Amino acid sequence: MQKENARYEFLLNISTNALLETDLTGRILHMNAAAEYFLAPDASGSNLAAWFNKQSPDILSKIEKAIRLKLPQNLQLTTKGRSCSLYFYGHGRNCYICIEDITERRQLAVSLERTSQRLDFAERTAHIGYWELDFKYKKIYWSSEMFRIFGVSTAVSSPKRNLIRERILKEDLPVYKEKLRELLHTGHPVEGKIRIRKLNGGLRCCYFKAGIIEDENRRKIAGTFQDLTSLIKTQTALEKAKELAENLNRGKSLFLAQASHDLRQPMQALTMFISALAEEKLTRRQKMLLDKIEASSENLKSLLDNLLDLSKMEANTENGDFQEFNIADLLKKICCEYQEICRTKNINFRCIRHNAVIFSDTVILERLLRNLINNAVKYTKNKIILGCKRYKGYLRIMIIDNGIGISAEEQELIFDEFYQSKKIKNNRSQGSGLGLAIVRKSAEILGVSVKLNSTPGQGSCFWFDIPVLRSLPKTK
Ligand code: ADP
Repeated sequence: MQKENARYEFLLNISTNALLETDLTGRILHMNAAAEYFLAPDASGSNLAAWFNKQSPDILSKIEKAIRLKLPQNLQLTTKGRSCSLYFYGHGRNCYICIEDITERRQLAVSLERTSQRLDFAERTAHIGYWELDFKYKKIYWSSEMFRIFGVSTAVSSPKRNLIRERILKEDLPVYKEKLRELLHTGHPVEGKIRIRKLNGGLRCCYFKAGIIEDENRRKIAGTFQDLTSLIKTQTALEKAKELAENLNRGKSLFLAQASHDLRQPMQALTMFISALAEEKLTRRQKMLLDKIEASSENLKSLLDNLLDLSKMEANTENGDFQEFNIADLLKKICCEYQEICRTKNINFRCIRHNAVIFSDTVILERLLRNLINNAVKYTKNKIILGCKRYKGYLRIMIIDNGIGISAEEQELIFDEFYQSKKIKNNRSQGSGLGLAIVRKSAEILGVSVKLNSTPGQGSCFWFDIPVLRSLPKTK
């Protein structure tokens, strides 16, 4: 008997839970070694309520109920910084109490709760739900966002119910099934777009992804559903707004094209009146004023021409009239004209031509070249080269000057409409700031890309490559 008791006592003492026996009044009759930690080594004989009264005044009523009702009772309290769960079992006239330290378990539960709250927030914000299908037990898990996306309450769902299949639009179901078949066959992740009908009838457009995962040594399908409905709505609204803006812009360009075209006639009349007036006998002051009027009208004319060119291109009324021609003919015509202009300005104008057949629009290409050469004339010191060289299957056309050059930060801006460098004196009176915008738009229509190399103080080289259809022999 004694041996038996010693064995039980040993067993009680190796338990990590504190075990105690009290009478109906709460007086401690027996306790094991672990209980000494929660109370004190000499706690036997004292009243349990005296140790825990501060933390919980219910101790005695729990003991009394456990003994009287013969029903286990439970109580949670914190003592010595540890969270404890107390279980009360009535047996005969005494109560047996087990104190379990649940501190770590509680901390884990709290951090698990926090993690799941964060995950829920992330899912809700990104509109992405997570689901899993366990092949072996045919069980389905859905995260809360899946329920929100599908508009289904957790109450109507069951782990055995495949709500995805139920809610996918009939037309989209084959796509979904095919993707899952592919996943099972190849093992590689799959993705696609499908529409689902919510329980309240609303339609949702979703993007799904699915793959195979190993969990608890079992293969499962895991996947996500992303609700794209509001994203698509925003995109559609944006596209509509863009289309409207483009239409308005086209309308503005058409109006500008018409207005500048109409303004050309009075402009021409003005030029004629100016030359008629120049024939008259004028005083020195009148002559000086007339020269100023002539310069202003030249500027106005070039602004109108530029405006008309640009608005025609922006209104998409010019799509290019492409045909085959020898580029050397065009270059020869331009060279002759500019050599004359440059001679009067003491600029050395060199032209290097190549006989090559290209497929392009002569009028637009000429306009592009003229705008670049006009700038070279305006900004050069004393040299301009209009050059060509063969480069792989292309002809590289270059307009080089030895003028003031363009700084790296301005190279990004000069192709914008109305941009003119403030670093150049009287730059505004020399042009309209539309020349390079016309170059950019013309290049777009011709399918070429105009590039620029420039060093401030040394000069600039504007160039572009144009495909060569056929090379021709040199002409003398
Ligand atoms: P602008 O009518 O003022 O010449 P552009 O659109 O043709 O308008 O050119 C925009 C700006 O780019 C010019 O004002 C000038 O500052 C700069 N630029 C263009 N070509 C050259 C060049 N060859 N050398 C130096 N600066 C240039």
